[in-house]
Amino acid sequence: MILIGLTGGIGSGKSTVSALLAEHGAIVIDGDAITRDLQRPGEPLLKVLVERFGPEILNSSGELDRGALAAIVFTDKEALTDLNKIVHPLVGKEMERRMAEQRHTDNVVVLDIPLLAENPRKGLSGVIVVDIETDLAVQRLSAFRNMSAQDARARIANQASRETRLAIADQVIDNSGSLEELKFQVDRVWEWMLTRDHAANDAGAATDAL
Ligand code: ATP
Repeated sequence: MILIGLTGGIGSGKSTVSALLAEHGAIVIDGDAITRDLQRPGEPLLKVLVERFGPEILNSSGELDRGALAAIVFTDKEALTDLNKIVHPLVGKEMERRMAEQRHTDNVVVLDIPLLAENPRKGLSGVIVVDIETDLAVQRLSAFRNMSAQDARARIANQASRETRLAIADQVIDNSGSLEELKFQVDRVWEWMLTRDHAANDAGAATDAL
């Protein structure tokens, strides 16, 4: 497998890029999607979260109210540490399982990891960073995600800076243009991905190098 890390700030366009790469034939392993799956009602993880953070993190249908949970951990560092301790190992295990399935194939596997700059991975065949100006991310998150500009700015400020992310990039996709322009860049990056070396057997594991 060729194992590519894909990252970018909130609202930069990672999911859009992932979808375009999947059209080319990439196998996308999406950390956020796995997290959402594991937090569905009936999953053991949701029960553990309710035990730690209280029933106020559930909505009236018994599903996780992400906004309520985010509000708790946003202002309480200890709560955030606990949340990460509970969620990360399970999500990590599921990502490992999906990578293991692909390990001996020739497939291009894309690890979509929002916090790759903060939490590096071993032995990737390459790293792609989707980059946009902060103002544009705020604009798109307000327009398409129903997020207030203030909330969007606060979340962006809580993540690694653009410079920190760009420092780990082998390829940068500039998503400040139209979707058509984005597609053109993804086509170019896909060709580059195909030239990358296969990843080693332990590739993709989390590292605490930072
Ligand atoms: P998050 O970090 O929240 O998961 P993301 O990085 O995955 O976000 P996307 O969901 O792909 O970002 O994009 C954010 C929003 O901007 C989406 O509604 C998407 O449709 C839109 N979008 C992405 N790229 C473009 C573009 N080039 N032109 C216009 N809208 C875009």
